[in-house]
Amino acid sequence: MRCLACHRLSWSTFCQSCQQTLLKPNITKRTINRLEVYSFFKYQNIENLLLTKHTKQGFIIYRALSKLSFRLFIKNFMQNSIDKIYILGIDESVKNGYSHVALLTHEMRYKNVKVLHSKLMAKNHIKYAGKSLQFRLENPREFYYRGEKDIEVILVDDIITTGTTINEAKRVLEKNSVKTLFALTLADVKV
Ligand SMILES: [Zn+2]
Repeated sequence: MRCLACHRLSWSTFCQSCQQTLLKPNITKRTINRLEVYSFFKYQNIENLLLTKHTKQGFIIYRALSKLSFRLFIKNFMQNSIDKIYILGIDESVKNGYSHVALLTHEMRYKNVKVLHSKLMAKNHIKYAGKSLQFRLENPREFYYRGEKDIEVILVDDIITTGTTINEAKRVLEKNSVKTLFALTLADVKV
């Protein structure tokens, strides 16, 4: 088979060379309305891979990207922790047979970690790509939450652009007595 990033022969989804360069996570931080958001990759560096979420191949790519980033992060983060923590993906709706956000959160199963699937869903699926901050604010996602209350969660999304989505998600959770510790995204568009 071939590496899905560089197309050279490889035994794994991404070859060792790509894993050590292009796909080596480089964590950056942004603060959105007092919420810290950490991202593993710079959007522009892996844009072609990220765009596969609109295709069937995205299933393999998002799962492999999550193993290189979210999975390593949570193992490290929870290594010496005895607290129970919840992982909550933002809008795990299914397109092309899978939810790309659910592929990210699924790799975060670990001791004392509970992944809540499809518990924070959007009613409004209007496309944000290329739209202004103003447009995003005027067309909120209208999230509804149907998970446990009085818990602490790490929010997960695939990309962060303006931060309006994550901010809206956090506010909806607050109304449901859910505290957001911080958020994680695969890639930051602005960095
Ligand atoms: Zn490669």
